[in-house]
Amino acid sequence: MANLDTIIKDLVIANRILAKEDVVDAYGHVSIRHPDNPKHFFISRSLAPELIEKEDIVELGLDGQPVRDDKRALYLERFIHAAIFEARPEVNAVVHAHAEDTLPFGIAAATKLKPVIHSGSFIGPNVPVWDIAKKFGATNVLVTNMAQGRDLAKCLGSNSVALMRGHGFASAGRSLIEVVRLSVYLPRNARALMKAKQLGGQIKYLSQGEIDSRARGYSPYSVETWRAWHYWATKAGVGDMVTRPDAPVAVSKKSTKKSAKKAAKKSKSAKGKKR
Ligand SMILES: [Zn+2]
Repeated sequence: MANLDTIIKDLVIANRILAKEDVVDAYGHVSIRHPDNPKHFFISRSLAPELIEKEDIVELGLDGQPVRDDKRALYLERFIHAAIFEARPEVNAVVHAHAEDTLPFGIAAATKLKPVIHSGSFIGPNVPVWDIAKKFGATNVLVTNMAQGRDLAKCLGSNSVALMRGHGFASAGRSLIEVVRLSVYLPRNARALMKAKQLGGQIKYLSQGEIDSRARGYSPYSVETWRAWHYWATKAGVGDMVTRPDAPVAVSKKSTKKSAKKAAKKSKSAKGKKR
């Protein structure tokens, strides 16, 4: 069985990072699929991401309902997560947020949101826009049931992000680190595109070849990806919660177990100093 404590700790870190990086504010949420039961996922109870602790995490089923008798208030829009997990078996983490810089692209038809900067490549070449009114008419624009969640998941299709007209976005990734990274760079990519439009002239988007090339070189636990996660967590005040699943220990093939233990001890004490 996977270490649930680590999963939940990572989810707390993800919440704090998204808050610190202004992707979410009082609203917005992030979830992770249960590693041993794909029909369940973890998400916080209804609370601002910046305030979330381990005890606030609840386990929900793919119908968006709690699997245990939990009377705590839940996010109204938890169905976004449930429906995306239901539709996409390869997706293990989902973010929903209202990041301001993404909003114009869900409203104005003239300019599509596409990758223009290297760190924005992971949003993928196609970012569909979901309009809740098309199927559900005049709602409060929030996703408050499974039918709405499923319609959004259908619009998302196999893409990484869907914009939600007049509301925000939903993003999906194979891992938590991936969806957080994508969600942090999505508004930045949007901002760069908007500023470039103000400068005028033709917009040069990343080419399909560039997007593919970056996707090929990506690994959720590479040194480069890990560097960002560690940095963001530390900046958000939860650096001491970070555990790296495949923490590299500088051991050559010839090294003995003793030197590996020594290196691990050294890394542990270095971590302690940071606190
Ligand atoms: Zn929302």
